[in-house]
Amino acid sequence: MGKIVYGIDVGGTSIKFGLFNSEGVRLITKFEKDTPKTNQQTSVLECIFNTIQETNQLYGYSELDIEGIGLAVPCPVKDGIVNSCANVKWENMNIKKELAAKFSNQVHVVVSNDANIAAYGENASLEIPFRNAIVITLGTGVGSGIILNGEILEGSTGMGGEIGHTHVYDGPIETCGCGAKGCLEQMCASKGMTNYALELSEEMSTSINLNQITIKDIFEAAKLGDKLCLKVVDRAAEYLGKAASVVALTIDPDAFIIGGGISKAGQYFLDKIKNAYQKYARFSTGNKPFLLAKTGNDAGIIGAAHYAIKK
Ligand SMILES: [Zn+2]
Repeated sequence: MGKIVYGIDVGGTSIKFGLFNSEGVRLITKFEKDTPKTNQQTSVLECIFNTIQETNQLYGYSELDIEGIGLAVPCPVKDGIVNSCANVKWENMNIKKELAAKFSNQVHVVVSNDANIAAYGENASLEIPFRNAIVITLGTGVGSGIILNGEILEGSTGMGGEIGHTHVYDGPIETCGCGAKGCLEQMCASKGMTNYALELSEEMSTSINLNQITIKDIFEAAKLGDKLCLKVVDRAAEYLGKAASVVALTIDPDAFIIGGGISKAGQYFLDKIKNAYQKYARFSTGNKPFLLAKTGNDAGIIGAAHYAIKK
C-alpha cells in the first residue's frame, strides 16, 4: 500500500474528511462528522485526531503511512495561526503546531483558509493547473482565493484574496456582514440577487414566483427572456466582471475559475461575466480564459489534500 494524505475541511456545523492516496490524490473515502460544540479550543483538533486514528484502523493504515494532513479552516489564517474565528471558537491558536504535535514528526500538517484551499483544489484538479489563477465561489457569499506562482496567496494577515468584500456599489443598501456597505458579495451572492429581484418587481412584472424566489428560477427565467430576471443576472455579472478586472491588473492571472452554487447557471452566466470583464479590463489582461469549477462541494477536502502534498 502506498502513502496516504488526509484533506479535512472544518466548518461551524460539520467537519468533512477525505482520505486520499497520496499518489495522484485519488479519493479512497470521504465522510462528515458533526463539529464538537463545547470546548472548541481543544475539542475540534481532538475530534480530528481521533477520527484519523479510527479511519486509519478501519482501512489498515498506520501513522507512518500518512504523508500529510491538509486542514481548511473557516477564518483568516497566517502561517497556521488563527487569531479569531467566527464559526469555531478558536482564539490565538497555532492550529498547525497543535495538530502536528499530536502526530509523529514525519506527518506534515498544513493549514489554510477554506476559500483559499477550495481555490487551490479547483486549480489543482485541472488537467494542467495554472501557475496564477483567481477562483471565485458564488453562493450565499462570494468567496475567493488567489493562486500566485503555484502558492496560496495568504497575504500578511491571512486576508489575501478576499475579494467578496471589495467595495463596488455606492447606492443605498443595508450593512454587509463585514460592517461596510456596497460589497461585491452584497450585489452578487444569492441574497443580493433575490433582494434585487424583489426591488425591481415593484415596477416590473416577472414570470417567477416572488413569494419563493430561488436563484435557479431567476437564471431559468432570464434564459427564457424574462426582463426582470435578465436585469438581475446582468447586474451580478457586471459587478463580478468589474471586480475581476481590478484584481487582474494587480495579479495578471492566467485564468479565472468560477464555482459555487450560482455557477450552476453554467456557460450562460460565465459568458456574461466574461463580457462584463472585457469591458473593464485593460492592456493584456483583457484576454483571460474564464472556466467553470468542477469539484463542487469536495473542493475543500481535495484542495487540502493537494496542498498537504505540495508542501
Ligand atoms: Zn462586506
